[in-house]
Amino acid sequence: MKAKIYPEPAKDSVWETLITLQGGKDMVDIKKLIQKGANMIRDAKSILVFTGAGISTESGIPDFRSPGGLWTKYDPSDFYFQRIISDEKAREKYWKMSSEYWDVMRDAKPNRGHLAIKKLEDAGKLLAIVTQNIDRLHHKAGNSPEKIIELHGNAFFVSCLSCGKKYDRDEIERRIKEQGIKVPYGDKCGGILKPDTISFGQALPQDKLEAAFRCASICDLCIVLGSSLVVYPAASVPSHAVQNGAKLMIINRDPTPFDGDAELVIHESISKAFGDMVDLALSN
Ligand SMILES: [Zn+2]
Repeated sequence: MKAKIYPEPAKDSVWETLITLQGGKDMVDIKKLIQKGANMIRDAKSILVFTGAGISTESGIPDFRSPGGLWTKYDPSDFYFQRIISDEKAREKYWKMSSEYWDVMRDAKPNRGHLAIKKLEDAGKLLAIVTQNIDRLHHKAGNSPEKIIELHGNAFFVSCLSCGKKYDRDEIERRIKEQGIKVPYGDKCGGILKPDTISFGQALPQDKLEAAFRCASICDLCIVLGSSLVVYPAASVPSHAVQNGAKLMIINRDPTPFDGDAELVIHESISKAFGDMVDLALSN
């Protein structure tokens, strides 16, 4: 049995969903959906949580793809991996964009949605978190590092593409900001430095991808939080879970191509809907 999609697919406004929720009748509907989700969590023994940019926007981290996001200020084609490694000008643009993003990300704090996932781990129900995010907010929320699979890498370290030396991101950012360096290079070998994130045109780490699919094949519930499920191959992780018999729940602002496979779909704020749902599921 499929729950109805709530509310109707979003139109232009990002916040239309929340505005719709001000109405009384709709509030009753959302409560029923949260109750249904809580029951699914209560019944589950091994939950795979799949997170995307939507869970982090509520911590103030902008979604690249949103209106007003970074891709409206920069041209994504400048940031393909091949351009970054072959073109000094592209590297300069890349670091300018990336440093601006870093300033926001470094100090961001996990929100109620992240903390709800931590509660699932504390309750012994969390198999793993597979995330498309590079912001380490699941680490900051206190989830065990071994349970966090970062498919797109993370922004907190920088590596030399020649010798592999790793640097703290803050150290490199200090060079850029305090010494006015536009493009940083490796200390010893002079190699190209790049944050440990996966850029366009760069393959996902095979070990992470395999771990994600392994978890998808053995979980009994997959919960998607804040991903539009359009970036591959990450987006095929939840459908792999469904193919292997898991139930699927999706909480995302907008509809996704996989809403039809889900037992429950909620278009609502993650910190509110998922936060309430987990509290309900773990209460007596
Ligand atoms: Zn090096």
